[in-house]
Amino acid sequence: MKLLIIEDEQDLLNLIIRYLKKEGYLCEYAVNFKEGYKKINNFEYDCAIVDLNLPGGDGLKLVQYLRADNSQVGIIVISARDTIEDRISGLNIGADDYLTKPFNLSELNARIKAILRRKTNQFSNEIHFGDLSINLEERKVEAGGKLLQLTKKEYNILVYLARNKNRVVTKDSIAEHLWGDYMDNAVSFDFIYAHVKNLRKKLAENGCGDFLKTVYGIGYKFQTH
Ligand code: CA
Repeated sequence: MKLLIIEDEQDLLNLIIRYLKKEGYLCEYAVNFKEGYKKINNFEYDCAIVDLNLPGGDGLKLVQYLRADNSQVGIIVISARDTIEDRISGLNIGADDYLTKPFNLSELNARIKAILRRKTNQFSNEIHFGDLSINLEERKVEAGGKLLQLTKKEYNILVYLARNKNRVVTKDSIAEHLWGDYMDNAVSFDFIYAHVKNLRKKLAENGCGDFLKTVYGIGYKFQTH
């Protein structure tokens, strides 16, 4: 699970990151509006924790961008502003939760968990397209009733594309999804190309329809119509 923490108070940011890393999350951060905006535009997160008073802009705007960009992302506002109006505007704009500073880190963690659980439950545990079926709980893929032997990366790419079906998914976001933002893009694009090639081959060998389309120069699309 990958989190983005947008917070300009360095001490608080460090505390949050240290705590959440120990809880097993992959944590990325931004310390001002501009950085936060850049991360939101370039990467995908499962949940974002957003401070409102940020150098360079209002965190509420970032909440808005986040929600517009990805309807599934969990969003928790953390702020010293604690009027009812502040809370309501945060939630109205698309935040899932609002935590007033100062807060307990274990409470933040509990709220993140609750949101992620809710988001996961919105998805069914199975994805079906034609003769392809993906069991998300068991991480198993079947084509025409036969179990496919996929590597972890092949599986992750397939599920990522299937969940974004009929949308173009850029190579950047696939790389980001598979490796975080630490991998060199030129290298990761070669890997993605190879993984998709193998994945296609395995699907075709099992008589599965050709769902994976290449969008030349941009990325891939899981096409169902
Ligand atoms: Ca602040």
